[in-house]
Amino acid sequence: MEPKAAGPAVTPRSKSRMLVMAAGVLVLAGIVVLIWPMLGSSMADTKSSLNPAKIDGKRAYEYLKKICAIGPRPAGSAANTTQRELVAKHFRDQGATVTVQAFKGVDPSNGQPVSMANLVGSWFPERVERVVIGVHYDTRPFPDEDTNPANRRIPFIGANDGASGVAMLMEIAHHLKDSKTPWGVDLVLFDGEELVYGGGQDQNGEYFLGSKHFGAMYAQSQRGRTRTTPHYVAGFVLDMIGDKNLTIDKEPHSVDFAPRLVRDIWSVAKALEVKQFRDRMGQTAVQDDHLPLYNSGIPAIDIIDFDYPHWHKATDLPENCSAESLEAVGKVMTAWLNKPKARR
Ligand SMILES: [Zn+2]
Repeated sequence: MEPKAAGPAVTPRSKSRMLVMAAGVLVLAGIVVLIWPMLGSSMADTKSSLNPAKIDGKRAYEYLKKICAIGPRPAGSAANTTQRELVAKHFRDQGATVTVQAFKGVDPSNGQPVSMANLVGSWFPERVERVVIGVHYDTRPFPDEDTNPANRRIPFIGANDGASGVAMLMEIAHHLKDSKTPWGVDLVLFDGEELVYGGGQDQNGEYFLGSKHFGAMYAQSQRGRTRTTPHYVAGFVLDMIGDKNLTIDKEPHSVDFAPRLVRDIWSVAKALEVKQFRDRMGQTAVQDDHLPLYNSGIPAIDIIDFDYPHWHKATDLPENCSAESLEAVGKVMTAWLNKPKARR
Protein backbone atom coordinates (compact mmCIF):
# COMPACT_ATOMS: atom_id res chain seq x y z
CA MET A 1 0.00 0.00 0.00
CA GLU A 2 1.15 3.50 -0.81
CA PRO A 3 1.11 6.45 1.54
CA LYS A 4 -1.92 8.68 0.90
CA ALA A 5 -0.02 11.86 0.00
CA ALA A 6 1.78 10.14 -2.89
CA GLY A 7 -1.40 9.22 -4.77
CA PRO A 8 -1.87 10.05 -8.48
CA ALA A 9 -3.42 13.37 -9.54
CA VAL A 10 -7.21 13.18 -9.64
CA THR A 11 -8.68 13.96 -13.08
CA PRO A 12 -12.48 14.25 -13.62
CA ARG A 13 -12.45 10.85 -15.34
CA SER A 14 -10.58 8.99 -12.63
CA LYS A 15 -12.78 10.77 -10.09
CA SER A 16 -15.93 9.21 -11.54
CA ARG A 17 -14.19 5.84 -11.66
CA MET A 18 -13.30 6.24 -8.02
CA LEU A 19 -16.92 7.06 -7.22
CA VAL A 20 -18.07 3.91 -9.02
CA MET A 21 -15.48 1.89 -7.12
CA ALA A 22 -16.49 3.48 -3.81
CA ALA A 23 -20.13 2.69 -4.52
CA GLY A 24 -19.13 -0.90 -5.32
CA VAL A 25 -17.28 -1.21 -2.03
CA LEU A 26 -20.31 0.17 -0.19
CA VAL A 27 -22.64 -2.32 -1.91
CA LEU A 28 -20.27 -5.18 -1.03
CA ALA A 29 -20.08 -4.03 2.57
CA GLY A 30 -23.86 -3.86 2.66
CA ILE A 31 -24.17 -7.41 1.35
CA VAL A 32 -21.69 -8.68 3.96
CA VAL A 33 -23.66 -6.97 6.73
CA LEU A 34 -26.92 -8.47 5.42
CA ILE A 35 -25.72 -12.04 5.05
CA TRP A 36 -23.52 -12.02 8.15
CA PRO A 37 -26.25 -13.42 10.41
CA MET A 38 -27.02 -16.13 7.82
CA LEU A 39 -23.42 -17.23 7.98
CA GLY A 40 -24.05 -18.01 11.61
CA SER A 41 -21.41 -15.63 12.85
CA SER A 42 -21.98 -12.85 15.30
CA MET A 43 -19.77 -9.80 15.55
CA ALA A 44 -17.03 -10.29 18.10
CA ASP A 45 -18.04 -9.28 21.59
CA THR A 46 -15.70 -7.11 23.57
CA LYS A 47 -15.90 -6.06 27.19
CA SER A 48 -16.64 -2.45 26.21
CA SER A 49 -19.34 -3.39 23.69
CA LEU A 50 -21.33 -5.31 26.28
CA ASN A 51 -23.71 -3.94 28.84
CA PRO A 52 -24.32 -6.40 31.69
CA ALA A 53 -26.71 -5.37 34.45
CA LYS A 54 -25.29 -4.54 37.87
CA ILE A 55 -26.13 -7.99 39.19
CA ASP A 56 -25.92 -8.19 42.97
CA GLY A 57 -24.60 -11.67 43.75
CA LYS A 58 -25.03 -11.22 47.51
CA ARG A 59 -28.69 -10.29 47.10
CA ALA A 60 -29.20 -13.29 44.80
CA TYR A 61 -27.60 -15.55 47.41
CA GLU A 62 -29.91 -14.11 50.09
CA TYR A 63 -32.84 -15.06 47.85
CA LEU A 64 -31.42 -18.58 47.60
CA LYS A 65 -31.25 -18.85 51.41
CA LYS A 66 -34.75 -17.40 51.80
CA ILE A 67 -36.17 -20.00 49.40
CA CYS A 68 -34.36 -22.84 51.20
CA ALA A 69 -35.71 -21.55 54.53
CA ILE A 70 -39.23 -22.31 53.27
CA GLY A 71 -38.20 -25.97 53.44
CA PRO A 72 -38.51 -28.78 50.87
CA ARG A 73 -40.70 -27.61 47.96
CA PRO A 74 -41.87 -30.63 45.97
CA ALA A 75 -44.70 -30.27 43.44
CA GLY A 76 -48.10 -30.17 45.11
CA SER A 77 -46.79 -29.11 48.55
CA ALA A 78 -47.85 -26.03 50.50
CA ALA A 79 -44.21 -24.89 50.49
CA ASN A 80 -44.20 -25.05 46.69
CA THR A 81 -47.22 -22.70 46.61
CA THR A 82 -45.62 -20.38 49.19
CA GLN A 83 -42.54 -20.11 47.03
CA ARG A 84 -44.52 -19.45 43.85
CA GLU A 85 -46.54 -16.70 45.56
CA LEU A 86 -43.37 -15.12 46.94
CA VAL A 87 -41.84 -14.98 43.44
CA ALA A 88 -45.09 -13.78 41.84
CA LYS A 89 -45.17 -10.81 44.20
CA HIS A 90 -41.50 -10.11 43.57
CA PHE A 91 -41.97 -10.21 39.79
CA ARG A 92 -44.96 -7.83 40.03
CA ASP A 93 -42.97 -5.48 42.26
CA GLN A 94 -40.31 -5.41 39.53
CA GLY A 95 -42.81 -4.42 36.84
CA ALA A 96 -43.82 -7.78 35.36
CA THR A 97 -47.20 -8.96 34.20
CA VAL A 98 -47.63 -12.28 35.98
CA THR A 99 -49.64 -15.26 34.80
CA VAL A 100 -50.06 -18.73 36.29
CA GLN A 101 -50.37 -21.84 34.11
CA ALA A 102 -52.19 -24.43 36.21
CA PHE A 103 -52.14 -28.09 35.22
CA LYS A 104 -52.42 -31.54 36.72
CA GLY A 105 -49.69 -34.08 37.30
CA VAL A 106 -49.65 -37.44 39.00
CA ASP A 107 -47.73 -38.49 42.09
CA PRO A 108 -46.12 -41.76 40.97
CA SER A 109 -45.87 -43.00 44.58
CA ASN A 110 -49.66 -43.29 44.99
CA GLY A 111 -51.21 -42.49 41.59
CA GLN A 112 -52.99 -39.45 43.03
CA PRO A 113 -53.46 -36.29 40.94
CA VAL A 114 -51.26 -33.35 41.94
CA SER A 115 -52.11 -29.70 41.27
CA MET A 116 -49.15 -28.02 39.63
CA ALA A 117 -48.52 -24.55 38.22
CA ASN A 118 -45.93 -22.75 36.14
CA LEU A 119 -45.41 -19.07 36.86
CA VAL A 120 -44.68 -16.63 34.02
CA GLY A 121 -43.37 -13.10 34.64
CA SER A 122 -43.49 -11.02 31.43
CA TRP A 123 -41.63 -7.82 30.82
CA PHE A 124 -42.49 -5.75 27.71
CA PRO A 125 -45.55 -7.94 27.01
CA GLU A 126 -46.32 -5.96 23.84
CA ARG A 127 -43.11 -7.11 22.11
CA VAL A 128 -43.55 -9.83 19.52
CA GLU A 129 -39.97 -11.14 19.55
CA ARG A 130 -39.39 -12.68 22.94
CA VAL A 131 -36.84 -14.57 25.03
CA VAL A 132 -37.76 -17.12 27.68
CA ILE A 133 -35.52 -17.90 30.64
CA GLY A 134 -36.82 -20.85 32.64
CA VAL A 135 -35.87 -22.65 35.83
CA HIS A 136 -37.57 -25.41 37.80
CA TYR A 137 -38.80 -24.43 41.23
CA ASP A 138 -40.00 -27.75 42.59
CA THR A 139 -37.57 -29.88 44.54
CA ARG A 140 -37.18 -33.63 44.38
CA PRO A 141 -39.08 -35.40 47.18
CA PHE A 142 -35.96 -37.14 48.57
CA PRO A 143 -32.16 -36.97 48.18
CA ASP A 144 -32.07 -40.30 46.38
CA GLU A 145 -28.40 -40.21 45.44
CA ASP A 146 -27.05 -39.70 48.95
CA THR A 147 -24.09 -41.95 49.64
CA ASN A 148 -25.56 -42.75 53.05
CA PRO A 149 -28.76 -44.81 52.52
CA ALA A 150 -30.19 -43.51 55.82
CA ASN A 151 -30.20 -40.00 54.34
CA ARG A 152 -32.27 -41.02 51.31
CA ARG A 153 -35.52 -40.68 53.23
CA ILE A 154 -34.96 -37.24 54.72
CA PRO A 155 -36.51 -34.20 53.00
CA PHE A 156 -34.47 -32.63 50.22
CA ILE A 157 -33.64 -28.91 50.41
CA GLY A 158 -32.33 -28.37 46.85
CA ALA A 159 -30.23 -25.23 47.35
CA ASN A 160 -28.52 -25.64 44.00
CA ASP A 161 -31.00 -28.03 42.36
CA GLY A 162 -34.01 -25.74 42.55
CA ALA A 163 -33.36 -22.62 44.61
CA SER A 164 -30.32 -21.36 42.64
CA GLY A 165 -32.33 -20.93 39.43
CA VAL A 166 -35.23 -19.24 41.18
CA ALA A 167 -32.87 -16.90 43.05
CA MET A 168 -31.17 -16.03 39.76
CA LEU A 169 -34.47 -15.08 38.12
CA MET A 170 -35.42 -12.99 41.16
CA GLU A 171 -32.15 -11.07 40.82
CA ILE A 172 -32.43 -10.67 37.02
CA ALA A 173 -35.98 -9.36 37.57
CA HIS A 174 -34.52 -6.28 39.29
CA HIS A 175 -32.77 -5.28 36.07
CA LEU A 176 -35.37 -5.72 33.33
CA LYS A 177 -37.82 -2.81 33.59
CA ASP A 178 -35.15 -0.19 32.87
CA SER A 179 -32.96 -2.34 30.67
CA LYS A 180 -32.00 -1.73 27.06
CA THR A 181 -32.95 -5.23 25.98
CA PRO A 182 -34.60 -5.24 22.56
CA TRP A 183 -36.63 -8.37 23.45
CA GLY A 184 -39.76 -9.11 25.35
CA VAL A 185 -38.58 -11.19 28.31
CA ASP A 186 -40.45 -13.99 30.06
CA LEU A 187 -38.99 -15.38 33.27
CA VAL A 188 -40.64 -18.73 33.94
CA LEU A 189 -40.79 -21.05 36.94
CA PHE A 190 -41.48 -24.63 35.87
CA ASP A 191 -43.25 -26.92 38.30
CA GLY A 192 -43.03 -30.74 38.29
CA GLU A 193 -39.53 -31.00 36.93
CA GLU A 194 -38.74 -33.88 39.25
CA LEU A 195 -41.61 -35.42 41.11
CA VAL A 196 -39.55 -38.55 40.85
CA TYR A 197 -38.66 -41.14 43.48
CA GLY A 198 -35.62 -43.40 43.72
CA GLY A 199 -32.10 -43.16 42.37
CA GLY A 200 -29.97 -44.54 39.57
CA GLN A 201 -31.78 -47.04 37.33
CA ASP A 202 -34.52 -47.43 39.91
CA GLN A 203 -36.53 -44.25 39.33
CA ASN A 204 -40.26 -43.84 39.45
CA GLY A 205 -41.95 -40.80 37.93
CA GLU A 206 -41.98 -38.53 34.90
CA TYR A 207 -39.62 -35.60 34.54
CA PHE A 208 -40.28 -32.09 33.10
CA LEU A 209 -44.06 -31.94 33.57
CA GLY A 210 -44.03 -28.13 33.84
CA SER A 211 -41.86 -27.43 30.82
CA LYS A 212 -43.85 -30.02 28.81
CA HIS A 213 -47.05 -28.18 29.68
CA PHE A 214 -45.46 -24.82 28.88
CA GLY A 215 -44.17 -26.17 25.55
CA ALA A 216 -47.59 -27.59 24.64
CA MET A 217 -49.26 -24.24 25.38
CA TYR A 218 -46.62 -22.46 23.35
CA ALA A 219 -46.96 -24.80 20.35
CA GLN A 220 -50.71 -24.24 20.45
CA SER A 221 -50.20 -20.46 20.43
CA GLN A 222 -48.07 -20.74 17.29
CA ARG A 223 -50.70 -22.47 15.13
CA GLY A 224 -51.71 -20.06 12.39
CA ARG A 225 -49.00 -17.69 13.57
CA THR A 226 -48.92 -14.27 11.89
CA ARG A 227 -46.43 -11.39 12.03
CA THR A 228 -48.04 -10.11 15.21
CA THR A 229 -48.07 -13.42 17.11
CA PRO A 230 -45.60 -13.28 20.00
CA HIS A 231 -42.93 -15.95 19.63
CA TYR A 232 -39.63 -16.94 21.17
CA VAL A 233 -36.37 -16.24 19.36
CA ALA A 234 -34.40 -17.92 22.15
CA GLY A 235 -34.89 -20.04 25.25
CA PHE A 236 -32.55 -20.60 28.17
CA VAL A 237 -32.87 -23.05 31.01
CA LEU A 238 -30.75 -22.27 34.06
CA ASP A 239 -30.19 -25.23 36.37
CA MET A 240 -27.69 -25.87 39.16
CA ILE A 241 -25.90 -22.57 38.62
CA GLY A 242 -25.15 -21.87 42.28
CA ASP A 243 -22.35 -24.40 42.94
CA LYS A 244 -19.59 -22.55 44.78
CA ASN A 245 -17.12 -24.31 42.47
CA LEU A 246 -19.08 -23.39 39.38
CA THR A 247 -17.93 -24.73 36.01
CA ILE A 248 -20.33 -24.49 33.09
CA ASP A 249 -19.41 -26.51 30.02
CA LYS A 250 -21.31 -26.55 26.74
CA GLU A 251 -24.14 -29.02 27.18
CA PRO A 252 -24.13 -31.44 24.21
CA HIS A 253 -27.90 -31.39 23.45
CA SER A 254 -27.79 -27.58 23.48
CA VAL A 255 -24.94 -27.60 20.97
CA ASP A 256 -27.09 -29.82 18.72
CA PHE A 257 -30.33 -27.84 19.14
CA ALA A 258 -29.19 -24.24 19.11
CA PRO A 259 -25.46 -23.98 18.33
CA ARG A 260 -25.67 -20.27 17.65
CA LEU A 261 -27.09 -19.53 21.09
CA VAL A 262 -24.31 -21.58 22.70
CA ARG A 263 -21.73 -19.68 20.67
CA ASP A 264 -23.33 -16.34 21.60
CA ILE A 265 -23.44 -17.02 25.34
CA TRP A 266 -19.90 -18.36 25.50
CA SER A 267 -18.68 -15.43 23.43
CA VAL A 268 -20.27 -13.01 25.92
CA ALA A 269 -18.78 -14.91 28.86
CA LYS A 270 -15.34 -14.86 27.25
CA ALA A 271 -15.50 -11.12 26.56
CA LEU A 272 -16.58 -10.45 30.16
CA GLU A 273 -13.84 -12.80 31.40
CA VAL A 274 -16.37 -14.87 33.30
CA LYS A 275 -14.18 -17.92 33.78
CA GLN A 276 -16.96 -20.17 35.10
CA PHE A 277 -18.07 -20.68 31.49
CA ARG A 278 -15.45 -23.04 30.08
CA ASP A 279 -14.83 -23.35 26.38
CA ARG A 280 -15.28 -27.10 26.29
CA MET A 281 -17.97 -29.69 25.63
CA GLY A 282 -19.66 -31.14 28.71
CA GLN A 283 -19.19 -34.84 29.50
CA THR A 284 -22.91 -35.44 29.87
CA ALA A 285 -25.78 -34.75 27.47
CA VAL A 286 -28.30 -33.56 30.02
CA GLN A 287 -32.01 -34.31 29.97
CA ASP A 288 -33.58 -31.12 31.26
CA ASP A 289 -36.36 -28.59 30.70
CA HIS A 290 -34.70 -27.37 27.51
CA LEU A 291 -35.81 -30.58 25.70
CA PRO A 292 -39.55 -29.82 25.90
CA LEU A 293 -38.86 -26.19 24.94
CA TYR A 294 -36.90 -27.30 21.90
CA ASN A 295 -39.60 -29.83 20.97
CA SER A 296 -42.17 -27.02 20.98
CA GLY A 297 -40.17 -25.02 18.44
CA ILE A 298 -37.99 -22.79 20.64
CA PRO A 299 -34.22 -22.71 20.00
CA ALA A 300 -33.26 -23.53 23.58
CA ILE A 301 -30.14 -24.33 25.54
CA ASP A 302 -29.36 -25.53 29.06
CA ILE A 303 -26.90 -23.58 31.15
CA ILE A 304 -25.97 -26.11 33.79
CA ASP A 305 -23.09 -27.24 35.97
CA PHE A 306 -23.68 -30.95 36.08
CA ASP A 307 -20.45 -31.51 37.98
CA TYR A 308 -21.87 -30.88 41.45
CA PRO A 309 -20.77 -33.29 44.19
CA HIS A 310 -24.00 -32.73 46.17
CA TRP A 311 -26.38 -33.53 43.31
CA HIS A 312 -29.54 -35.21 44.73
CA LYS A 313 -27.86 -35.53 48.11
CA ALA A 314 -28.86 -34.29 51.55
CA THR A 315 -25.85 -31.95 51.35
CA ASP A 316 -27.33 -29.82 48.54
CA LEU A 317 -27.43 -26.89 50.97
CA PRO A 318 -26.80 -23.10 50.78
CA GLU A 319 -23.28 -23.50 52.17
CA ASN A 320 -22.31 -25.35 48.98
CA CYS A 321 -23.50 -22.46 46.80
CA SER A 322 -22.10 -18.94 46.48
CA ALA A 323 -22.93 -15.34 45.65
CA GLU A 324 -20.02 -15.20 43.18
CA SER A 325 -21.40 -18.05 41.10
CA LEU A 326 -24.85 -16.50 40.86
CA GLU A 327 -23.34 -13.13 40.00
CA ALA A 328 -21.26 -14.66 37.19
CA VAL A 329 -24.29 -16.23 35.51
CA GLY A 330 -26.44 -13.12 35.98
CA LYS A 331 -23.82 -10.94 34.32
CA VAL A 332 -23.58 -13.17 31.26
CA MET A 333 -27.34 -13.53 30.88
CA THR A 334 -28.08 -9.81 31.17
CA ALA A 335 -25.20 -8.86 28.88
CA TRP A 336 -26.68 -11.22 26.29
CA LEU A 337 -30.18 -9.81 26.81
CA ASN A 338 -28.96 -6.23 26.46
CA LYS A 339 -27.12 -6.72 23.16
CA PRO A 340 -28.76 -4.79 20.34
CA LYS A 341 -30.42 -6.97 17.70
CA ALA A 342 -28.11 -5.61 15.02
CA ARG A 343 -25.06 -7.00 16.78
CA ARG A 344 -26.15 -10.62 16.65
ZN1 LIG B 1 -32.54 -32.60 40.25
